[in-house]
Amino acid sequence: MEATTFDLEEKRLNEEISKHGAKRVLIQLPEGLKTEGPRLVAVAEKAGALAVVSADPCYGACDLATLDAKSLDADLIIHYGHSKMIEQKQVPTVYIEAKAKVSVKEAVKKAIPLLERWSKIGLVTTVQHVQTLDETRELLLEAGKTVAIGDAGHLKHPGQVTGCDYSNAKSVSKEIEAFLFVGGGRFHALGATLATAKPTIIADPFERRAYSIEKEAQRILRQRWASICEAEKAESFGVLVGLKTGQKKLDEALKIKEKLEKSGKKVTLLAVREITPEVLMQFPAIDTFVNTACPRVSLDEASKFLKPVLTFTEALVLLGETDWEELCKKGLFGS
Ligand code: SF4
Repeated sequence: MEATTFDLEEKRLNEEISKHGAKRVLIQLPEGLKTEGPRLVAVAEKAGALAVVSADPCYGACDLATLDAKSLDADLIIHYGHSKMIEQKQVPTVYIEAKAKVSVKEAVKKAIPLLERWSKIGLVTTVQHVQTLDETRELLLEAGKTVAIGDAGHLKHPGQVTGCDYSNAKSVSKEIEAFLFVGGGRFHALGATLATAKPTIIADPFERRAYSIEKEAQRILRQRWASICEAEKAESFGVLVGLKTGQKKLDEALKIKEKLEKSGKKVTLLAVREITPEVLMQFPAIDTFVNTACPRVSLDEASKFLKPVLTFTEALVLLGETDWEELCKKGLFGS
């Protein structure tokens, strides 16, 4: 995927710097767009600001670099690739969504035969392709489908999903039979099917192809159940508290700590920015981790970890407070 495939709105970058009278700007880019950093710095400097690119990973709008901007004395954050998720007044922040400049038509047309079994379709996409949903809806209507695009009011655009917010999908889940996800990669489509338990077909406009995510979702569900079973033997738990602004759920962490302790387990609270195997390996006495930060680390990256890393909801299954079969039927996670 070429970075030039996305609209980085250089003119707007220039205008926002002038409008805010910014003298020092911190530019945050998701991993796929980091290569554009030097070019955007040149644009920002032409507008009269000193620009710094955050080289740290940025996987979502949950990871707004407010504290970094403050420590660098930056008076503006330009956050690329996501829409607003966090309310904060400490450092003015401009979101540039980086809309994709690719046609979705060919991929959607290829998806239609894969949707053959279903007539009621829900449409979901990332912020990069929200502008294409009307065209996709038309193509589906022409193919004789009925189409629902959810708007639960949590995200900026109807039909939009993020890695952990499927509220728009969930809001129409009962009235549809399957989802069509428009966008690149498997990550968000996998999230949609795991969060709603509905079959999901991907129309990938970058690769101009369509395919089902069903097998991968089933593999993940089997893996999650295996992790819960393994965690049954655990005596010592580490409860992970996210340090990224949008991942900090201290109340949830304290709640699960209390519940685990009541069932006789030893619990250590661990504060963490990046949850990696290397970080968790520093705690060999801990048998199982409960992750209250980014749920996708548990769901998508399980094979990297030597010990179970359960989500909050999976920990409730372990404690007998939630039924696994029911959870699989209604969706594994997500608001
Ligand atoms: S918490 Fe995880 S899935 Fe949600 S926005 Fe952040 S990185 Fe993405």
